[in-house]
Amino acid sequence: MIYIHVPFCRSFCTYCDFYSERACPSAEWLDEICAEAQSRKDEIAASAAVDTLYFGGGTPSVLPLEYIGRIADACGGRHYREWTVEVNPDDITPEYAEGLKSLGVNRVSMGVQSLDDAMLRWMNRRHTADGARQAFRTLRAAGFGNASADIIFGVSGMDDEMLRATVQELIAWRPEHVSAYQLSVEEGSALGNMAREGRYSELSDEECSRQYYLICDMLAAAGYEHYEISNWALPGFRAVHNSAYWTRAPYVGLGPGAHSLRRDPDVRSWNSESITGWTSSCEVLTDAEIREEKIMLGLRTADGIPGYGRIPEDRWFTADDIIFSLI
Ligand code: SF4
Repeated sequence: MIYIHVPFCRSFCTYCDFYSERACPSAEWLDEICAEAQSRKDEIAASAAVDTLYFGGGTPSVLPLEYIGRIADACGGRHYREWTVEVNPDDITPEYAEGLKSLGVNRVSMGVQSLDDAMLRWMNRRHTADGARQAFRTLRAAGFGNASADIIFGVSGMDDEMLRATVQELIAWRPEHVSAYQLSVEEGSALGNMAREGRYSELSDEECSRQYYLICDMLAAAGYEHYEISNWALPGFRAVHNSAYWTRAPYVGLGPGAHSLRRDPDVRSWNSESITGWTSSCEVLTDAEIREEKIMLGLRTADGIPGYGRIPEDRWFTADDIIFSLI
């Protein structure tokens, strides 16, 4: 189970505080990430029970196809049960989509965020709603039968009608998987500055909750299983890679800013945020930390905490469940 962090973006979204740089992927970065894969071969082998490779970011689709192929080769090959690449609609041409498919990528995750052009401009996304529509068609035409789409809710200026229209159209596309994230105001993002200067006020908890349940109801009615707080899938299309994080399977994160987990003993490590010359730090988790992590991750999922079973959806995240789990 391997995660590749691609810390490059062509522009920065209003809300983003992820580690990313507005630079072109360099040959130096590529050499360094391939060398890291080589040097962590044993860790990669120890995490192979979950047979997945995930390119996240940043924006992995700014990488030339050749770079993606070379990184996969350095990780041990191009055949995975699930090989996901996150893509920006603006990068998806027929050549790029077909190129990803011929490399062996079998799942794409596209950042749609909204299908309202004014909202996309406010978010400083570099694609339009039409660009996302076209990109999704292009991915299908290239043969991708497992596609995920991300959307954002809880944004001031996004009313229920706007959100409903986005979700309705998304359902009509029939992606196999949908992720919906509530906007959060993070220090260090452009939005954080806007909020501090009084140019943005967050939606109330009640409004965010109403929008969340609007999404839940629409996706449930369309046959999507709500299997994690922010994730829905058609039957058989839960994300294998992300689901394994929630069970604390060991994983290897390569590249600047990437995190990793080794098991028995449980060691978490993380790379520094530097385009080249990144270094790694680590900590050994205590039994109490491991237990808390199991509870926290289990509460996010429909399957619940191992040993406690499935939590009814209307009881997710209630104080009762947390207390019950800690006993
Ligand atoms: S949200 Fe994603 S695409 Fe936008 S700036 Fe952040 S990392 Fe880049």
